[in-house]
Amino acid sequence: MILDKYETFEEYRKAVRELSQTLLIASEDRLSLEEGIPEDLTDALRDMGLFGISIPTEYGGLGLSMEEQVRLTFEFCQASCVYRSRFSTTIGLTSQAILDFATEEQKEKYLPKMASGLCTGAFALTEPEAGSDAGSLKTTAERRGNDGWLINGEKRYITNAPQADVFLVMARTDPSSTGSNGISAFLVDATLDGIRVGDPPKMLGNEGSHACYVWFENCEVPADSIVGGQEGRGLKAALRGINHARLHVAATCVGQAIRLITEMTEYASKREQFGKRIGEFGQIAAMLADSRAEMAAGRALCLDCAKQFDAGDQIPFIDIASAKLFCSEMVSRVADRAVQVMGGLGYMEDLSDVPRLFRDVRLFRIFEGASQVQQGNIARSMMKDHESLS
Ligand SMILES: Cc1cc2nc3c(=O)[nH]c(=O)nc-3n(C[C@H](O)[C@H](O)[C@H](O)COP(=O)(O)OP(=O)(O)OC[C@H]3O[C@@H](n4cnc5c(N)ncnc54)[C@H](O)[C@@H]3O)c2cc1C
Repeated sequence: MILDKYETFEEYRKAVRELSQTLLIASEDRLSLEEGIPEDLTDALRDMGLFGISIPTEYGGLGLSMEEQVRLTFEFCQASCVYRSRFSTTIGLTSQAILDFATEEQKEKYLPKMASGLCTGAFALTEPEAGSDAGSLKTTAERRGNDGWLINGEKRYITNAPQADVFLVMARTDPSSTGSNGISAFLVDATLDGIRVGDPPKMLGNEGSHACYVWFENCEVPADSIVGGQEGRGLKAALRGINHARLHVAATCVGQAIRLITEMTEYASKREQFGKRIGEFGQIAAMLADSRAEMAAGRALCLDCAKQFDAGDQIPFIDIASAKLFCSEMVSRVADRAVQVMGGLGYMEDLSDVPRLFRDVRLFRIFEGASQVQQGNIARSMMKDHESLS
C-alpha cells in the first residue's frame, strides 16, 4: 500500500502522472522568482508523498526502490523541473547522506519530517572558489571544547536555501588539511543564529527555483550536529548523496525530453506548410525520430543504473556518470530541435512553453557535476579498470 491509497506502485505512478499532466503543467505560469513555488502547489507535492520517495518506510517515507523512483521521475518531470527542485535536495543529497552516515538519533530527528515534506533539506557544498573542485572548500568548523562547533564560510548556489529547515553543510574540521580528508558534514538547523541567506538570483531558466548564497558567520552548532558523530567523512557523505542525485537528474532529463517531444510532435502533426503537415518533411521527421530514439536510449540507461543500484552490490558509479552525461546532453539537443521544429512559435515566450523548457534544461549540463567532470570521471575509471568497458 502506498500512502494508504494506492494498492500497487503502478496505481501510484498513474496518480503522479495525472498530477503532473493536469495541475502541475497547468500551473507552470504561477512559478516565479518572487514567489517560488506557491504553497498550495508545494502542498500538492507533499500530499502526493513526493518528499519521501527515497526515504524508507520505517522513517515515514514511501521506501520506493531506485527503479520505482526513476520511473516516477520520468512522470513528474514532464511538468516543469522547477517543481522537482523543491523536493530534490531533500530526497537526494540531504536525506541520502543522513541515511548512510548519520547516527540513529539524527535519522529519527530529521527523516520522518523530511518524508512528510515538513522539513526541507538544503545541500551546502559549493563555494565561490570551490565548484567542480569541491574538495578545495574553505568553510571551517572549529571545535568549541565539548560544546560544539563554530562554522564560518561562504556557500553559493544553494538550492532551496530560503525554504530550508536544515542545511547539510560541508566544512573543514582539520585546518591543516587542504584536500577532501579534513572535511566533515554537519546538520545545521536553519533557525540558528549566524546564518544569512542571500536574495534568490535571476537565472537563465528554472524561474521559481531559488539557488542562493548562504553565509555562516560564527554560527555555533551543537556537538551532535556532526553527521554520524565522526570527523573527516564529509565529502564521502556528500558524494554518496550525489550519486543518488545524479541518477535522479538523468531521469529528470528523460522526463523533460518526453515533454519537449510531445510539444514538437503535436505541432509537427498539425502545422501545414506547402500543402503538407510539416512532420512529413524529411528533415522535420528526422528531428522527431532522433529525439525519440535518444530519449529512449537515455530512459534505458537510467533504468539499467537503477536496477544495478537496487541489486545492492556496489553503486554503479561509472554508469551513473554516463547516464548523467548522456541524458543532460540529450535533453539539450532535444530542446534545441523542439525550438527548430516549432519555428517562430518555439521562440515566442508568451505563446509556447518550449522557450522556457529550452532555458530550464540547460542547467542539467552544469550542476551535479558538469559534463566535463563526468567525462573526466568516466575516462579515469576506464583507464584504471578495463573491465568497466564491458
Ligand atoms: C541552479 C543551480 C543550483 C545549484 N544547486 C546547488 C546546491 O543545492 N548545492 C550545492 O552545493 N551546489 C549547487 N550548485 C552548484 C553546482 O554544483 C556547481 O555550479 C557545479 O558543480 C559547477 O561548479 P562551478 O559553477 O563553480 O563551475 P566551475 O567548477 O568553475 O566550472 C566551470 C567550467 O569548467 C569546467 N571544468 C571544471 N573542472 C574541470 C576539469 N577537471 N576538467 C574539465 N573541465 C572542467 C566545468 O565543466 C565548467 O564547464 C548549483 C548550481 C546551479 C547553477
